[in-house]
Amino acid sequence: MAKQEDQFKKVISHAKEYGYIFQSSEIYDGLSAVYDYAQNGVELKKNIRDYWWKAMVQMHENIVGIDASILMHPTTWKASGHVDAFNDPLIDNKDSKKRYRADVLVEDYCAKIEAKIDKEVKKAAKRFGDAFNKEEFVSTNARVLGYQEKINTILGRLAKSLENEDLADVKALIEELEIADPLTGSKNWTDVKQFNLMFGTQLGASADSAMEVYLRPETAQGIFVNFLNVQKTGRMKIPFGIAQTGKAFRNEIVARQFIFRMREFEQMEMQFFVKPGSQKEWYKKWKETRLKWHLSLGMGEDNYRFHDHEKLAHYADAAADIEFKFPFGFKELEGIHSRTDFDLKAHEEFSGKKLQYFDPEDNSSYVPYVVETSIGLDRMFLAVFSKALQEEALENGTSRTVLKIPAVLAPTKAAVLPLVKKDGLPEVARKIVEDLKWDFIVSYDEKDAVGRRYRRQDAAGTPFCITVDHDTLEDDSVTIRHRDTMEQKRVKISEVKALIKEEVDMRTWLLKTK
Ligand code: ATP
Repeated sequence: MAKQEDQFKKVISHAKEYGYIFQSSEIYDGLSAVYDYAQNGVELKKNIRDYWWKAMVQMHENIVGIDASILMHPTTWKASGHVDAFNDPLIDNKDSKKRYRADVLVEDYCAKIEAKIDKEVKKAAKRFGDAFNKEEFVSTNARVLGYQEKINTILGRLAKSLENEDLADVKALIEELEIADPLTGSKNWTDVKQFNLMFGTQLGASADSAMEVYLRPETAQGIFVNFLNVQKTGRMKIPFGIAQTGKAFRNEIVARQFIFRMREFEQMEMQFFVKPGSQKEWYKKWKETRLKWHLSLGMGEDNYRFHDHEKLAHYADAAADIEFKFPFGFKELEGIHSRTDFDLKAHEEFSGKKLQYFDPEDNSSYVPYVVETSIGLDRMFLAVFSKALQEEALENGTSRTVLKIPAVLAPTKAAVLPLVKKDGLPEVARKIVEDLKWDFIVSYDEKDAVGRRYRRQDAAGTPFCITVDHDTLEDDSVTIRHRDTMEQKRVKISEVKALIKEEVDMRTWLLKTK
């Protein structure tokens, strides 16, 4: 656990030191769970967004994008259920005065039991060596089965109490499990209460005509209310999708995990409209497609897993999360939800407007069903960044800090380094920068010995260093060094652009898991 915490601390401080993420309004001591993206962070974030948009919109003939407003008519949130049901169960510790999400306290308790299962598995794997069969072990080992049953019982009861709004039972569960305040160890809890996560604000200038509105807590509703506009003007035929990226706001109760849980964050969502009855098939397809997108980045298959929901939201007939192994364990990165016709039907009812599709194939009109893929851009950023940050032991006994961001997402693709600051080398290096900057973000660095510059670029996440030396003046060649392998190759200046392009091209990456 301590190791995980250390790693997470390193991620946070590295993100600041290398210009990726700053605390919001830091000079005023910051604002809780609100962050600013710095000069490198903004590029990484943009590249992740573009990578998603390319895969979801550009590569699908039947998916188009929109950019809806953050402020929407307040009835939207009545219809969607957010006014009445977008609540989290909160609990306060009377001694520490700290506030927690009651469900998260219980889930974290179960995660600890799960860690025990992992320990058993690791121990057995060591004992049995090559003959070890994990699946067989977890389905037969008495101790593991006991742990698993305990988890299932606890989570089953939590789901049931939340569904029945039986908050007294959620408190009883916390007390029975003897869950303590993780910060102080106190078990002196208040009752559990519901807390609405939407931020409200006023629209309009004068007090009597002002209208209560909300900052959107998800981007999805902007898609639903525009469903018919897009379908008609785009002459879209079912099945088709509408995608959107943009800010969402939630007044999260607990916000202590850096950019994992923010109060202002960005989502990348796609709502796929399908014929009623075909939703299960599409749900399965989108689960597969989205996992492939993640795997294309080469961040390790073992770092992802599906978590199929047992407790379904009021609008869903199936739901799963893609979880990622963050420095603090496996947590939700993306949600795939089969949302039925709940949203469109609700908007029909509240607006009095028909939101139906006329299907020319069988001359019928219906309210389509929806399969949603919803990923937090900031969470994806954290996944990429935390996985990329590595401390590597080198053959010569030293070590290096390297940020192995997939080259396609890296903010700066290459740094051009003159070996020395004289003899005409800076001029040649500058010329290379001038040429490359039309295609990629490149930087120029002439300060310090070249070895130190390599380390600096490694830690900043730059995939390629291009070194200009005295031989360059004779043979028009440079040394290109790969961040991940530290391999160096001599190439003609005229070939540099194509070489980098191949390595950072979205096509190269997206085709990896076709
Ligand atoms: P959680 O259970 O972690 O609160 P959720 O199930 O409420 O998340 P959704 O409403 O399904 O999340 O939102 C879709 C995606 O938006 C999530 O998978 C996550 O990546 C992202 N997301 C949700 N809330 C936040 C937040 N407060 N900060 C950053 N990203 C978020």
